Amino acid sequence: MKHLLAIFIILSLNLRAQEVKNKYLENKTVTYKECINFYQSLEKKYQTAKLFEFGKTDVGIPLHLFMITNDKDFDISSIKNKQKTILLINNGIHAGEPCGVDACLGLSEDLLSKKELTQLLNNVVVCIIPFYNIDGALNRGCCSRANQNGPQDYGFRANAKNLDLNRDFIKCDAQNTSSLIEIIHQINPHIFVDTHISNGADYSYNMTLINTQHNKLNPILSNYLNNKMLPSLKQEMKLKNNEMCPYVETLKETPDSGLVGFLETPRFATGYTALHNIIGFVTEAHMLKPYPTQVKATYDLLLSFISTMDKQHTDIIEFKKKADEAVAKKQVYFALNWTLDFNKYDLIEFRGYEAGYKKSSITNLDRLYYDRLKPYSKKIKYFNHYVANDSVNKPMAYIIPQAWSKVIALLKLNKVSMQALQNDTNITVNCYYVDDYKTNPKPYEGHYVHSNVSLKSNTQSINFYKGDYIIWCNQNANRFIVETLEPKAIDSYFNWNYFDSALQQKEWFSDYVYEETAERILKEDPQLKNELEQYVKDKKLENNHWEQLAWIFKHAPQYEKTAFRYPVFRLEQQY
Ligand SMILES: [Zn+2]
Repeated sequence: MKHLLAIFIILSLNLRAQEVKNKYLENKTVTYKECINFYQSLEKKYQTAKLFEFGKTDVGIPLHLFMITNDKDFDISSIKNKQKTILLINNGIHAGEPCGVDACLGLSEDLLSKKELTQLLNNVVVCIIPFYNIDGALNRGCCSRANQNGPQDYGFRANAKNLDLNRDFIKCDAQNTSSLIEIIHQINPHIFVDTHISNGADYSYNMTLINTQHNKLNPILSNYLNNKMLPSLKQEMKLKNNEMCPYVETLKETPDSGLVGFLETPRFATGYTALHNIIGFVTEAHMLKPYPTQVKATYDLLLSFISTMDKQHTDIIEFKKKADEAVAKKQVYFALNWTLDFNKYDLIEFRGYEAGYKKSSITNLDRLYYDRLKPYSKKIKYFNHYVANDSVNKPMAYIIPQAWSKVIALLKLNKVSMQALQNDTNITVNCYYVDDYKTNPKPYEGHYVHSNVSLKSNTQSINFYKGDYIIWCNQNANRFIVETLEPKAIDSYFNWNYFDSALQQKEWFSDYVYEETAERILKEDPQLKNELEQYVKDKKLENNHWEQLAWIFKHAPQYEKTAFRYPVFRLEQQY
């Protein structure tokens, strides 16, 4: 009797698991709890799978990582020694776009149970984050994505702090982000895939794909990406009857005006992984297709990644290694900002729907519509070439005083190796002064973001203290270091407000007291006196006593050196 009861329980658990896995067929998506329970049941059933907990999220629940191997080996260094590639799939960063969450349930079970798929794991280890934005997943409702065709109920885009986690990879305001970065550096994947559902135009493809913008990626990796990996992915999808095209970011309103390659700066998941020489992809299932079609397209593409990685694993391992070595040795031209080259484009075949305009019944003004009864296939322009419009040479090292502990913690999280000074030391360094910058008048993702930074620099001898950090620029993380510590880089810590307290003068003067001091300074420095006269003339300040004194105050040798001085220093030669 006991035996029968056990069989009954197992059968009913299996039945329940199948129901959960197939919910998408009924235009439904799993809840967070169902999702994790499903992975727990797979872990129990298969010794070749393991579910790990990693860090916390902003709702206090740990992040999970599900690993699938074909030999029960979950030790990362052992996996790498066996020359296996690692794929990391991240689901539900936008919890309202859960097709990857549902696709990965079926995919995991198939990889574990179907012989023809298990074979693909000879050279690939698959790591899945079942649900990344757990906070958003718990905040479930029916309609926050007004244009999306299913599922019936789903989570919300933002997390518990109302943050878009796909803008958080540099500033790391969410615990989810710190936990994911910890995962990325522990498993050091070769390929990273972030699953989404699209916004924007209507067209025939079920799936579109964003890859790490190729000009931004290390050239060794971008050559491989363009010439081998992307063609293989496209071919695999075609064979699965799910032909895909690049993500549809339109030049003007509709796709026939041309498509523009998406520039994901380091704040985005795949922009971030590019800094660590990990090729990143964003899968974008089409929002207007029925939900089962979205899930199937995501399943097909994820499987295409696995089989491509299986076939091309030797290349992937070799090129990643070479790219890491190259960036550690690279001296010159670290690009900080990029612009689209409108003179350069590729012609791609595109299957769209004719677009037109008709009167809106609400506003009586023209409104756009796509006519699915009028499909077309034609060549359109694809603008996907970016050029660096600003770059720097790396210094020999950066020096960051320990006072900037939040930035130091982020650098440590990113496995940047740092050497603490053993003694108080006077070192000659190159200093930046922030000459000008713009600040967004409204907060964006919790920050009053800076941009358009202009700098001046000079050389100074500075007393550093025991425990301040030297960051030598001879490491794999060089790009991450340069693109976060150079203030002009679009996603620098400076632009994300981590150094705002440096942007203030702390002492002033009373003009009636300062008068005699100013007089003495000018007498001792005729050159300064000439400069003042020129300044007064240029700015027409002849009748402004205070401004003239203020100029002397700021240009006197005694003026505080720390005002507007960027507190991370460039060491240009051995000290
Ligand atoms: Zn999204």
